[in-house]
Amino acid sequence: MSVANGVNDWLKRAVQSELLTEAGLNESALGGAADLLFPQSLQRVGQAALAMVRMQNSPALAVIGDNNAGFRGTEGQGAPCAILFCPPDHYNAEILRKVLPFTAPSPLGDQDVTFGVGDRLGVASPGHIRLFKKYRAAPVLAQQSARELDLTDRSYKDVLDSASWAVFQEGYTSPWGADGDHLKSEDWVKSALEIGNTMITADVSDYIKGEYQDKEKQSMMQDYTGLSSEYRQGIEERFLGLKVELDTGNTISFSREELARTALIYGQALEHALRLYRVCVEVKGEGNFDFELSIDETATPTTPEAHIFIAEEAKLVGIKSSSIAPRFVGEFQKGIDYIGSAADFESSFAIHAAIAERYGYRISVHSGSDKFTVFPVVGKHTSGRFHVKTAGTNWLEAVKVLARHEPALFRELYAYALTVFEKARKYYHITPNLDNLPVLATLSDDDLVTLFTNDDARQVIHITYGEIFKNASLKERFFAALNANIEEYWLALEKHIGRHLELLGVAHENTYQSNPA
Ligand code: ZN
Repeated sequence: MSVANGVNDWLKRAVQSELLTEAGLNESALGGAADLLFPQSLQRVGQAALAMVRMQNSPALAVIGDNNAGFRGTEGQGAPCAILFCPPDHYNAEILRKVLPFTAPSPLGDQDVTFGVGDRLGVASPGHIRLFKKYRAAPVLAQQSARELDLTDRSYKDVLDSASWAVFQEGYTSPWGADGDHLKSEDWVKSALEIGNTMITADVSDYIKGEYQDKEKQSMMQDYTGLSSEYRQGIEERFLGLKVELDTGNTISFSREELARTALIYGQALEHALRLYRVCVEVKGEGNFDFELSIDETATPTTPEAHIFIAEEAKLVGIKSSSIAPRFVGEFQKGIDYIGSAADFESSFAIHAAIAERYGYRISVHSGSDKFTVFPVVGKHTSGRFHVKTAGTNWLEAVKVLARHEPALFRELYAYALTVFEKARKYYHITPNLDNLPVLATLSDDDLVTLFTNDDARQVIHITYGEIFKNASLKERFFAALNANIEEYWLALEKHIGRHLELLGVAHENTYQSNPA
């Protein structure tokens, strides 16, 4: 095959220019074959050299040398030494993570800025990595919820392997994370960690009793009296005299009624958080994982009192959170900017950020895609320590590539999205106004991308990926078109997520390095 021959030509030249000699890898040998391989991927492992190549729009690992470290693949022909072309599958990924440990994720507890990008499609990570190489922030490249796995018909193995291959391809040797996102059960947490995830986002929302928020005082206090006396005595001792003075100037204290209400809303959620935390300790050992406690999937915003109650109680039972995600004021809907008062967000966020700083974990902002209004506030009030989670924006950017290059396919996909929208929306909280959707037939091919400036259209596309991928023909043509324009896709992601990091005020990597120790 001609592509393989092109790679072989390069390999011949690379070997001749002493690729395998002590000094390692000579980049000038790469010459004109750069569209076929990723020069930044070159690594020496014992007597072999490894490189990521692209053959007919699909990635493959080239193992050059007699000792192939156990990788499985097909022998290349006509090269001056042994070459194995290996599929980027799970078997080979396990060997890759062993021989090149930087291709495995790690806990990011000692990092200041961590940023969840995820890779819903399994092909986005190289774009993310190229961006994060330039910033002082650690990416969570793999980040999938159980819902997303189900909707994309993927497994944690697959998600993690895709990230490892991308890390190898881009030669990214800095730490990165893998998040089992919004996991609710002990079984899910256990299997996510066993497969290799390094972070768990523990979603305890099913145990948050939001109905107590507005419950009439007398019957609420009656329910409180129904809790065990030992428990009530404990929290009353811990909280009724407590005064927490925050750097923002706010002092938080609890009335008996407020404490009762908070305990009724969050008591069981904390018990469940401890169950999930214990599974993490059991599988990974204390200190060897990132634990994010997520209380953001609720109808009403988290109060400062509730946040402090959770921080204190979690500390008491030994839960060491690396981050906590409260529910903030306003609306954080998928794929569009913040909805609500920016001033209200700022005053409430400053308090939550101060609480997080006081208790020593990072504040976490979920559904962070495209929240350009709030990013400067997040940067400003966190002293540069926070976690932001985005997801799905990489799917929107992929569809945008399609709109630019495959207008007919894009029109078909969008029409299909509209037919499955009602089915898809049950998984997501979004409120698009369908009357506001542009009629595609009135748009010329050149104007199709303008659809992505319409928030209602963005939301329709954003949430229908699962239903779209159930259509095998659409799925196959979508990926073929995306892979044919993959460099453009990576560049688009680099720009789009880059805008997030800039507004958050994340430092550039070179600023960091130029700062003498
Ligand atoms: Zn969330």
